[in-house]
Amino acid sequence: MHDVIIIGRGPAGLSAAIFTSRAQLKTLVIGKKEKSQLIYAKHVENYFGFPEGIDGDKLLQIGAEQAKKFGADIIEEEVINIKKKKTFTIKTSDGKNLEAKTIIIATGIPIQWAGIKNEKELLGKGVHTCASCDGPMYKGKKIAVIGNGNYAAEDALELTSYTKDVTLISHGPKFTFNSKLEEQLKKNNIKLKVARAKEFVADKFLRKIIFEDGEEAFDGAFLACGTAGATTFASKLGIETKDGLIKVDENGMTSVQGVFAAGNCMGACRQIAKNVGDGCNAGVNIVKFLKAKDVFFDYAKE
Ligand SMILES: Cc1cc2nc3c(=O)[nH]c(=O)nc-3n(C[C@H](O)[C@H](O)[C@H](O)COP(=O)(O)OP(=O)(O)OC[C@H]3O[C@@H](n4cnc5c(N)ncnc54)[C@H](O)[C@@H]3O)c2cc1C
Repeated sequence: MHDVIIIGRGPAGLSAAIFTSRAQLKTLVIGKKEKSQLIYAKHVENYFGFPEGIDGDKLLQIGAEQAKKFGADIIEEEVINIKKKKTFTIKTSDGKNLEAKTIIIATGIPIQWAGIKNEKELLGKGVHTCASCDGPMYKGKKIAVIGNGNYAAEDALELTSYTKDVTLISHGPKFTFNSKLEEQLKKNNIKLKVARAKEFVADKFLRKIIFEDGEEAFDGAFLACGTAGATTFASKLGIETKDGLIKVDENGMTSVQGVFAAGNCMGACRQIAKNVGDGCNAGVNIVKFLKAKDVFFDYAKE
């Protein structure tokens, strides 16, 4: 029986594990380093304590070592099912059935690829998925945002802090923004282009985008298609969600007792500093939750 099983081995899950294992809770982290979004970040320079910047892969490695140092176990597997009775049964891809008193969902949000040729190869080399992370690289440059909904509009507006030359490309037939965002887009002179992008062309760095009916030079492109959430576990456990994102209270607990969440699967501000803070909040409150609960419920007698 684990005190806590953390699903996700990104910054949110590892940060939670540091807090729970250091507080002597039997902690297991399940997840793959290669599936964390952070693996794509080659030079993180906005995270506290690393003024010269740090490679995302290295940061994940250090975080895992720190959690292990305090006693957390980490397995590189995938969770394929969760069942709740009094405790939680977690089934992994290689057939393990694991028991836990509490769980933390820290599964992040997978990158929403746009299906444009070379988008994966050029990630970090002119193609990006995070305006607040990589926007500062494009001061005064010409950039494109690919997407047609409110999420894409938000990204385009955020990028106007760095350059006045922002084009929003629908990558489909038409745009669907709410009226407030539409007003803001106009006010900030963001160009709207209804076109489907086919290919990113680069030398070492992005040079131009080829569309179904022509091409245009750009210095950078930000993918902002949709906003999918990791809601599979939420629906299995009956956790409340909003717009595909998991809802939590101020302690990081979801609408289901004993299930906490942290990181990008909860939405807004998709940055490591926030992910790590969420992990801390869930971890600290799980310690309180279990200590208070042990007074009323003795798992060992079950
Ligand atoms: C190109 C790029 C550059 C970035 N640059 C920066 C930057 O400079 N600064 C910054 O602050 N942020 C940056 N980010 C954002 C940052 O990487 C994310 O905010 C962060 O990784 C999210 O953390 P997380 O723990 O919520 O999820 P993730 O790091 O995405 O981790 C999710 C984890 O969940 C696991 N998981 C998912 N489903 C399952 C399952 N069924 N079973 C088991 N495990 C599962 C995965 O294996 C993975 O370990 C960047 C992102 C990208 C893509």
